[in-house]
Amino acid sequence: MNILLLGSGGREHALAWKIASSPLFDRLWCAPGNAGIAQEADCVALDPLDTDAVIGFCQGNAVDLVVVGPEAPLVAGLVDALTAAGIKAFGPTAAAARLEGSKGFTKALCRANGIPTAAYEVFTAPEPAKAYIREKGAPIVVKADGLAAGKGVVVAETPGQAEAAIDAMFSGSLGAAGASVVVEDFLTGEEASFFVLCDGETALPLASAQDHKRAFDLDVGPNTGGMGAYSPAPVMTDAITARTMDEIIRPTLTAMAAMGCPYKGVLFAGLMITAEGPKLIEYNCRFGDPECQVLMLRLASDLVPALLATCDGTLKDVSLAWHDAAAITVVLAAKGYPGATEKGSVIDGLRDAMAVDDVEIFHAGTAERDGQIIAVGGRVLNVCATGKTLAEARAAAYTAVGEIRWPGGFWRRDIGAKGLARRG
Ligand code: ATP
Repeated sequence: MNILLLGSGGREHALAWKIASSPLFDRLWCAPGNAGIAQEADCVALDPLDTDAVIGFCQGNAVDLVVVGPEAPLVAGLVDALTAAGIKAFGPTAAAARLEGSKGFTKALCRANGIPTAAYEVFTAPEPAKAYIREKGAPIVVKADGLAAGKGVVVAETPGQAEAAIDAMFSGSLGAAGASVVVEDFLTGEEASFFVLCDGETALPLASAQDHKRAFDLDVGPNTGGMGAYSPAPVMTDAITARTMDEIIRPTLTAMAAMGCPYKGVLFAGLMITAEGPKLIEYNCRFGDPECQVLMLRLASDLVPALLATCDGTLKDVSLAWHDAAAITVVLAAKGYPGATEKGSVIDGLRDAMAVDDVEIFHAGTAERDGQIIAVGGRVLNVCATGKTLAEARAAAYTAVGEIRWPGGFWRRDIGAKGLARRG
């Protein structure tokens, strides 16, 4: 089987690593890929948003399955176009990807189906939104409706901050994404990421993970794409997982099917585990990055049959085995991230880091120049490890990080600390 994977981050390197271990694949390409993915797949210079080019490549290379990593091509309708061209693709249609592409769509779906989420209102003009904020008080959360690359959410501690966020979003700086804004109650609890494969009807739970969104130790600094993750998330007990499936995931799938846009692909629920139980913060229509890295390390079964069953509507026949082990990933980012970063700094010591037992390194913003690995992005490397316990995995990952010599980089030193504290 010939597989084309789309994307260039640590998530896609983890997917490429897992797919490459499957006896089912003959050729694996990744577009555009990175220096690490090039060890597992043939990287091709294709833009995943260039639908015609992707279809042309598939037709020219007898691609049997396209696996779409990031959200932008999904929301733009790449899977619809591939399906229309007779090419099998893993991921939701544009109509189903509205679960990520429009926060207003998801909130309305929750309200109509009794799915637990923060109370909210949607606004298309600043003045009524500000009046609602003054009535509600703070803390309160302001969200642009559309995709905003992590810049569309403000957790406001005062009404003044919330009103300033309203002005910023309606100023046009976020383009169409800010034309409509959700204002919702602040939820208190512990966050967790939960992943399920869905074939339109059946939902197959994968695993849970916890991300670390802030740039610096102790959860301070700006929000990022994610500075590290571990799996499983101790807060996702069996009881909370069962409630999440019954109260959030299954009603969502039923509602999507009833609307004529059944959800196929991986559904990523960002949850707040509150005193009353799990509540939905947001849906994403793809694997999380960096959560995918720890999920792939813990998945014992072949991923490829599960991806195919998701496309074919046969997930009810699939069961997946997981390693009990804990997995962790520490993200190494270029100094300045999530702001502007310099490209071209040289990273040494990767071979020594890889030699540490139970360690895998997944690349994100890397390239090869004259036989050396250089940084070309914000998030650059994911140093991952598995262990019988989270403490063991964490120790191995940080030992490997210690082998890497990269003056241009920084990383958090407390990934997994909260999970350890919770376990006592
Ligand atoms: P992502 O980059 O994860 O896709 P996003 O920009 O789509 O994020 P959300 O996940 O909706 O935005 O929110 C980002 C973060 O803001 C959440 O991870 C959470 O920490 C916080 N947050 C969002 N909504 C709430 C809420 N109602 N109560 C408390 N915190 C919230």
